[in-house]
Amino acid sequence: MAADPYGWLSKSLQTIHRAHWHRTVQPLSGRPGPVMTWQGQSIFNFASNDYLGLAGDPRLQDAAISALEAYGTGSTGSRLLSGHRPLHHRLEQAIAALKGTEDALVFSSGYLANVGTIAALVGSRDLIVSDQYNHASLINGAKLSGATVLSYAHRDTQHLQEQLAQHRAQHRRCLILTDSVFSMDGDLCPLPDILAIAGRFEAMVLVDEAHGTGVLGASGAGVVEYLGCRHRPLIQIGTLSKALGSLGGYVTGSAELIDFLRNRASSWIYTTGLTPAATAAALKAIEIIQAEPERRDRLQTHIQTLTVGLDALLAEQSIPSPFTKRLPSTSPILCLEVHSAATVMALKQQLMAQGIFVSAVRPPTVPTSRLRITLMATHTREHIMQLLQGLGAAYQ
Ligand SMILES: *Cc1c(COP(=O)(O)O)cnc(C)c1O
Repeated sequence: MAADPYGWLSKSLQTIHRAHWHRTVQPLSGRPGPVMTWQGQSIFNFASNDYLGLAGDPRLQDAAISALEAYGTGSTGSRLLSGHRPLHHRLEQAIAALKGTEDALVFSSGYLANVGTIAALVGSRDLIVSDQYNHASLINGAKLSGATVLSYAHRDTQHLQEQLAQHRAQHRRCLILTDSVFSMDGDLCPLPDILAIAGRFEAMVLVDEAHGTGVLGASGAGVVEYLGCRHRPLIQIGTLSKALGSLGGYVTGSAELIDFLRNRASSWIYTTGLTPAATAAALKAIEIIQAEPERRDRLQTHIQTLTVGLDALLAEQSIPSPFTKRLPSTSPILCLEVHSAATVMALKQQLMAQGIFVSAVRPPTVPTSRLRITLMATHTREHIMQLLQGLGAAYQ
């Protein structure tokens, strides 16, 4: 008898369990918002990427319903064949206008936008230099491209420059990859310095604004706007599924870049166009983020409140703390580092029992285990006080 070809699966799962790396899904119900339902219990939601509270906004819902009634449920084909609708064009125009770029291209997800764009721009003769904490979609896009991939220490522009000085000349094109807001840490990339270095080494720069768009910058255009880098030569990627409350991804930049991607990005060419409902909801969200800057202001106030509260909590030396430190952040993503994967899971469960939902993030996603807390404009000060109280109780 031959051995079971699937027998390795249970062994692999055992290894994952032993390392406390095993993951499962969390069924939440109710409309997306600061308060949701989990196992029949009401919970305060501090684990969502819906930073502006738009995923449950009736205006997005109405836009989606109208599009559904006008165009049906599916777009029925790839964009180059039967799947292109006037709505897609309007959304792409709206993204380009928000970002101050010539054109934009909408993908079925941010992940697909990264993978397809990176693999289209560089190949085996080229070099990618990537921040070590970049999102998995950037890392996997880099692998797929077949380019030589080097990383630089997190936010370390000195190291980036050394990598380029040593390796750039041996390659044809060069692409620097960075998240704008680091998704599992909450800190920002040093974009002006990266652009200056890129200029010296004839390197393209791709910045992933998944957590920046709608959240930072006076008009909500993201970290690029916040750090004063609009209109610089850049490839900007983002998602429609975080602050924009819908589903999908985009690339924005020069008209030539977008025209090239329409011809070369496999993950755009060979997949079905975005659904009419998702497209219309994202279009409405872009309108709202520009018209309602007060959502960003409220979010900034919440970030301040929570930062001060967390630091006060960590300063209480009287009792042994499960938290090593608060990771530096200027975004609605705030993380408390924890000694071990087992501890972070126990803390998460303890908070859940108190009706507080935060994410526990562990290796291999991140180098150190942490509680990841995300804020929404639609949270209240009272929600944040409840969270701080719950975290305080977790000391016992
Ligand atoms: C969420 C995320 C993505 C993927 O976006 P989706 O639209 O969810 O596929 C890409 N990059 C970063 C940094 C992200 O956080």
